[in-house]
Amino acid sequence: MEYAAAVSNLKGIGDKTQKLFASVGAETFGKLLMFFPRTYLLYPEPIEDADKDAPHKAAVLTRVPRGVTLKKTQRMDIALARTTLKTSELELVWFRMPYIRSKVLPGKHYVFYGNLFRERSGVYKMEQPLVFTPEEYDEIQRRPQPVYHLTKGLSNNAVIKAVRTLFADGGKIEEYLPPDILQKRSLAGYSKSLYQMHFPDDFDALLTARQRLVYSEFFDFFVRMQLEAKDQIKVSNPWNFHADAYFQKVKDALPFALTKGQEETIHVIRNDLTGEYVSQRLIQGDVGSGKTILAFLLMVLAAENGCQSALMAPTEVLAKQHYETFCGYIEKYGLPFSSVLVTGSTKGAARREVNERIANEKSLLIVGTHALFTEKMTYHNLALVVTDEQHRFGVKQRKMLSEKGRDPHVLVMSATPIPRTLAMILYGDMDVSVIKDVPAKRLPIKNSVVKKNKRKAAWKFIKDEVEAGHQAYIICPLVEASEKTESENVTEYGKALREYYGGSVAVDILHGKMSAAEKERVMTKFAANETQVLVATTVIEVGINVPNATVMVIEDANRFGLAQLHQLRGRVGRGEWQSYCIFIDGSDGDELSERLVVVRDSNDGFAIASQDLKLRGPGDFYGIRQSGDLNFALADIYQDADVMQQASEDVKALLACDPHLMKTEHQPLLAHLKLSEEVIYTNL
Ligand code: ADP
Ligand code: MG
Repeated sequence: MEYAAAVSNLKGIGDKTQKLFASVGAETFGKLLMFFPRTYLLYPEPIEDADKDAPHKAAVLTRVPRGVTLKKTQRMDIALARTTLKTSELELVWFRMPYIRSKVLPGKHYVFYGNLFRERSGVYKMEQPLVFTPEEYDEIQRRPQPVYHLTKGLSNNAVIKAVRTLFADGGKIEEYLPPDILQKRSLAGYSKSLYQMHFPDDFDALLTARQRLVYSEFFDFFVRMQLEAKDQIKVSNPWNFHADAYFQKVKDALPFALTKGQEETIHVIRNDLTGEYVSQRLIQGDVGSGKTILAFLLMVLAAENGCQSALMAPTEVLAKQHYETFCGYIEKYGLPFSSVLVTGSTKGAARREVNERIANEKSLLIVGTHALFTEKMTYHNLALVVTDEQHRFGVKQRKMLSEKGRDPHVLVMSATPIPRTLAMILYGDMDVSVIKDVPAKRLPIKNSVVKKNKRKAAWKFIKDEVEAGHQAYIICPLVEASEKTESENVTEYGKALREYYGGSVAVDILHGKMSAAEKERVMTKFAANETQVLVATTVIEVGINVPNATVMVIEDANRFGLAQLHQLRGRVGRGEWQSYCIFIDGSDGDELSERLVVVRDSNDGFAIASQDLKLRGPGDFYGIRQSGDLNFALADIYQDADVMQQASEDVKALLACDPHLMKTEHQPLLAHLKLSEEVIYTNL
């Protein structure tokens, strides 16, 4: 298969559709192959009667004694059929589908699938139902139906059609794993697994396919990591980090004492910085453990030794926030250094000026997003790189920098709790430190889980907190209303809330569809307490720090993963005041979702992460996205820990006998790695 070919090479896909596919990240053959369904739909068991408990999306097994009649109106043909069920009447309606008359024959049984409504007259109605014979329905019922991420103008059926065409006409997909590994681990073939991920024969086939692809993902990841590690000999440390007067001065002047965990971590890193080799270290610390101040202290240390340092944040909002915090410290402690901000929206003259400074100025504290590590950046003497929250600073960026100058020390700060053994596998050579404690003065967050009927009470509670001078976040899953789900959305929620408070509380909204400038404006106002309530999507999940916020309300909390809920909750409880987190359980019925009970009863991220595993049955097919680093397309480092272990062992064994993949039988693997690096989403 030509993985790099544009999907517009497929029959039936034009330039316009190509653009739509590009906007969902599936613009090439390779990417479309990897554009796995978001979830799968199972056709329901057919019902034979409709009553008030009937599901909204239903399959009804029945006969239409008199067949289909056709009503011609001026605008269109309407096909109608009526049938009597056990306790109710059902009317079936099709618009502009006159041919349905020859498909639905009088007296025969069919399954009709569609949205079921009850009319005011008491008659049930289904519009545009799909029609199956009972045999056809049996067959399709076994097959999980793919449901894709869509965008306006791109329907699920259009994606299905494109993927089908791709498998039919796109060319052969070669196996690339060595046969002995396939056999040893009982893995299904590559091509078949990709196909079954999109169009599974049944649920078991889906699990088998996923297993193979998860293995592949880990396998590819480890091979790359190992091959690159071989190229990376330890680099001797060219930096001199001995002066520490300003570092000490700031540390002593902080309004708080560092926790034991912070002190230990700082100590270890200082040893790294003056060690024999350039260091790479992963620092894990739960949300709120105070990682940012460590970054700042170390950057001051770099500065007073005449070196540049850079802090890379995963989002612009966060980068801006760190930058402002740093500027504040610099002023407060009268430091003779300055800080600059580089993000995607730093443009034109401002960007040129910043770039100029970065190319020439010693002792600069540089803060930014990915924009920091684009090809055209030139650093004067970058000695320390800190990445916040995400492991996105890969081997590539490191290479790029070392080609331009000397190798910087690299620190990765993460709140994702990964057991140490796992971290060693995933982060390869990196040293790992863990900050175990959180600042002592902090009160543990008080949690509660409630059903939607308690929402108004939550709003009232927010108002009380606001009157006491505090602020609140409310998280909704969606940006705007969607036909597909009834989950809360930021846009309408914001409106409703403004109406409810009637001007007594300033409410603002924040979501990922806003421009960087808009987001920044909203965050700045919230940070300055000009707005008191921020209704947001999970864009605020990573790293935002507004210590004055004391309430977090999470709507439809049952829709989020445990790790994500914990991250979100971490936005409060950052100051000295009592904070509260209210999880609103949007599930039907009176019972509380088990996962929410877990986060309610524990504030400890590590404990929650281990629960996470147990609470995920096969039903939670994709597992729970661990927020932050290490996003694999399918694999989940917790759920698939055993597969990961296997892949890691297999890769070690493979590279031990063929370190550079020179053997003929490993050529397909080498080819796959080259190809997938360019075409298929990878982590490195
Ligand atoms: P995270 O580890 O989640 O990135 P932050 O670095 O944003 O946490 O710190 C959260 C808050 O805690 C900040 O307001 C920070 O100033 C404060 N903080 C950091 N260290 C301490 C400490 N030792 N004692 C008290 N407050 C601290
Ligand atoms: Mg942080």
